[in-house]
Amino acid sequence: MNLTAESHRVPLSDGNSIPLLGLGTYADPQKTPKGTCLESVKIAIDAGYRHIDGAFVYYNEHEVGQAIREKIAEGRIKREDIFYCGKLWNTCHPPELVRPTLEKTLKILQLDYVDLYIIELPMAFKPGEAIYPKDENGKFIYHETDLCATWEVECHPYFTQPKLLEFCRQHDIVIVGYSPLGTSRDETWVNVSSPPLLKDPVLNAIGKKYNKTAAQVALRFSIQRGVVVIPKSFNPQRIRENFQIFDFSLTEKEMKEIEALNKNVRYVELLMWRDHPEYPFNDEY
Ligand code: NDP
Repeated sequence: MNLTAESHRVPLSDGNSIPLLGLGTYADPQKTPKGTCLESVKIAIDAGYRHIDGAFVYYNEHEVGQAIREKIAEGRIKREDIFYCGKLWNTCHPPELVRPTLEKTLKILQLDYVDLYIIELPMAFKPGEAIYPKDENGKFIYHETDLCATWEVECHPYFTQPKLLEFCRQHDIVIVGYSPLGTSRDETWVNVSSPPLLKDPVLNAIGKKYNKTAAQVALRFSIQRGVVVIPKSFNPQRIRENFQIFDFSLTEKEMKEIEALNKNVRYVELLMWRDHPEYPFNDEY
């Protein structure tokens, strides 16, 4: 596969295609100043990103939509150049809520369509106004669903998912790997007992050889495996850095060395919902 900054899409079974590198946009809404996401998405589009990963529950989807619309108005891109992925939140799983929820997302984005709309997590919560519904004892209120789950999969050098990747390859399914840099290590939802991915000596040593950072090596590793990555950054320098992965390639030996880093441990375990009947991470993939 000849991957370049201008051309790094992989085909999907429905005839569409998805860029292997996208910008993640989740940041703690309490700690992120308004407008940060807007500026970051605009910087990313200028840097060459054509795939943006967002969600209603990130509370900044309106900024993502605005950034895309501004760049279209400037003539920098056309709508069809961008691949936007939105997500159906846990309180909206009943089939009759899916369409109105998607329509709400389109209204927030002020766009006519999204390119991909996925089930954010396979665990349904009680429908209603509350995003995280809880009872009087502070316990999450779940909801029963008959869910044929299709959702993104954490994937990076410490959690390489060899079995799942092989299954998906055999069935022509493209994987989108979230947290490709090992997350923001926010202790409220991340398993920080797994060491920081970007401090890994092997990734850093390989990076040194190519004059690249550990982050760039981790991203390059994923796209060379055909796994789509959506690193999140709201820092202009790092947004650009994460896009500079098309001017080098890892040898077969280096790919094997990185594959051997797999610890089979997730950063995103979502243990607060482990009593949900559809909690997904007890199963082996
Ligand atoms: P990532 O692995 O993308 O890591 C993001 C963290 O790494 C941020 O703290 C960022 O800080 C930092 N960072 C970014 N680039 C660099 C770099 N070059 N060097 C050093 N640090 C860097 O974690 P996420 O968990 O955010 O995953 C990415 C995206 O995946 C999310 O934003 C979201 O869009 C999606 N996602 C979806 C989930 C789902 O359940 N469907 C779950 C989790 C994520 P800074 O911004 O300061 O650069």
